[in-house]
Amino acid sequence: MRLRPDVAAIVPYRQGRTAAADAFKLSSNENPYPPLPSVLEALAAVHANRYPDGSAAAVRDALGRRWRVSPERVHVGAGSTAIIGDLMNATCDHGDEVLYAWRSFEGYPLIAAAHGIHAVTVPVDVRGRHDLAAMAGAVTPRTRLVLLCSPNNPTGPVIHHGEFEAFMRAVPSDVLVVLDEAYAEFVTSPDAVRGEGVLANWPNLVVLRTFSKAYGLAGLRIGYAVGPEYVLDAVRAVATPLAVTDLAQRAALASLEHEDELMERVAEITRRRDEVRDALLAQGWDVPEAQGNYVWLPTGSRTAAAAEVFDRGGVIVRPLGDGIRISIGEAEAVEKLLRSAQEVVSMLPVAPKAGG
Ligand code: PMP
Repeated sequence: MRLRPDVAAIVPYRQGRTAAADAFKLSSNENPYPPLPSVLEALAAVHANRYPDGSAAAVRDALGRRWRVSPERVHVGAGSTAIIGDLMNATCDHGDEVLYAWRSFEGYPLIAAAHGIHAVTVPVDVRGRHDLAAMAGAVTPRTRLVLLCSPNNPTGPVIHHGEFEAFMRAVPSDVLVVLDEAYAEFVTSPDAVRGEGVLANWPNLVVLRTFSKAYGLAGLRIGYAVGPEYVLDAVRAVATPLAVTDLAQRAALASLEHEDELMERVAEITRRRDEVRDALLAQGWDVPEAQGNYVWLPTGSRTAAAAEVFDRGGVIVRPLGDGIRISIGEAEAVEKLLRSAQEVVSMLPVAPKAGG
């Protein structure tokens, strides 16, 4: 059997490791809270023998009202990961380019490779921020899609409103820009770009959101895109039919209905995040701005050894190249995580510096 050589070369997506019974899993940016009782109740009505509504009409209606756009301008997919792939598929031919910052979401290179699309990357700066001027300069006639991740996973900082607008002005209007705001609900910076605030300004913008993080539905796989109808029609044309289950759709609807309760939990997590970051700074870590539900530790060449220290300390973290990403989970995990971080900082050769 012959496989596509570029596909045979792909290293499959590696999930954050699962934790032993007495360890905390802080490796996948999950929400530590289980679904609300009202969300679980909504799931009881699922008829698993029937196919779901492939158009996710009820969820799109609810989101359309919220975003003040027609439901045609909303696309619901089986997680925003699936939508990123469908957006690439809908916009890029063989040889076309997708542009994103690096280090960023590890799904981007994988999804681009799976679609045979050439990925062009621009390093994040020493603060782990997108270098938007350099990114605008890296657009070529082959660029079809630009992915901007705010807050950036895994480094943490947001893109500011002003720099986003300047970037959009600099990018040709026939290049699609996708603002991936998987962690939008955790953002507390007043300077941050917000999809809601910029969507109407740009006909070449798609905003991506997910129910996996703040809404705590990672296991049900549901996310959405808001943008131009004809772009999302193309996404619908290439999407795997019926991929968003009835279970996921009902859970998303119930979560939107009970959003206030969920956002109290999100506020709790963002408070914990800020406390953890402050404590890490006090230990001597140079932690970049943390605006998602995670913090980034620049461990450089000691990353693998550092991850083992956390492992032994009872927290499973995510080593990614030259740093470690730690999700903000249960309150009970904080003490363990800080104890291990203290041990690691003292074994690093020089004061660690934040960066890509
Ligand atoms: N974008 C970013 C930046 C992410 O971090 C993630 C999840 N790790 C996703 C998209 C995908 O999330 P999901 O497929 O669960 O919606």
